[in-house]
Amino acid sequence: MVLVKEITAGSTIAVRGLDLQLFWQLNQLAPNSLVTIADLNINKGDGLFPYCQLPARNALKSVLTAYGKPLTINSAYRSVIAQAMLYSQKQRGLIDNLVGYPGKSDHQKGASLDIEEWPEVRTLMTSHGWRWTYGNKDAMHFDCTSDDIRDIRPDSIKAFQKLWNKANPNNQIAEDGDLGEQTLKCIYNSPSEGFSNVGYPRVLKLTTPSQQGKDVGELQLALRKAGIPLEQANQVFDQETDKAVKAFQESKGLSADGVVGQQTRTLLELN
Ligand SMILES: [Zn+2]
Repeated sequence: MVLVKEITAGSTIAVRGLDLQLFWQLNQLAPNSLVTIADLNINKGDGLFPYCQLPARNALKSVLTAYGKPLTINSAYRSVIAQAMLYSQKQRGLIDNLVGYPGKSDHQKGASLDIEEWPEVRTLMTSHGWRWTYGNKDAMHFDCTSDDIRDIRPDSIKAFQKLWNKANPNNQIAEDGDLGEQTLKCIYNSPSEGFSNVGYPRVLKLTTPSQQGKDVGELQLALRKAGIPLEQANQVFDQETDKAVKAFQESKGLSADGVVGQQTRTLLELN
């Protein structure tokens, strides 16, 4: 288990497990708040979480059609968790980027894009419903100007508060959609791989200290069922479990990274 406040790497990939749970919870609260852009003609920058609001997707699509080539998107939707992770790193002096207080960033609306090829497409963007908001100060950043963009930030903070309360029945917080100090502290103290007991799977992998729980036990039994030898099904994600996951991934032609994400879960029939 690695807490959000302990992460030292810059990439928001580090909180992807928790992010996916938040995304799931947000969709229960406010369906279709965000849609994917992964199917569009884009190159995905490192750590991209390829979602935005529908009007922003449509505006991006029209730019891509006019441009006729793929665009590299470095950042689209960033959850309050990803933003909190970066903010914590800024507070600890690990990074000195322009990181705003979580909850305030435009990327958390799902209506902003950071585009690598900004010099080539700036004019196309501004004539297809995008604003070059910060000029050269943050040159790759564009905001969608559609009136149909909704401020989904309170919903997404509420979604986190709901997740926290499900995972911590003895330490409840207000589900008010407001990012006060208490909620920020709770984000910092959440496991970056996700919670083990909120109704949506966390990302299982080898961590220090080790992940434990029923979900790890189910994984171990599924590995055995798939013919991977595993001596103990002890509900602890230990070295042996890590080896077994990698052996399974290798046998299926996946990259053997020991991380139990969606693809590995599906092949193990864990869904
Ligand atoms: Zn940006």
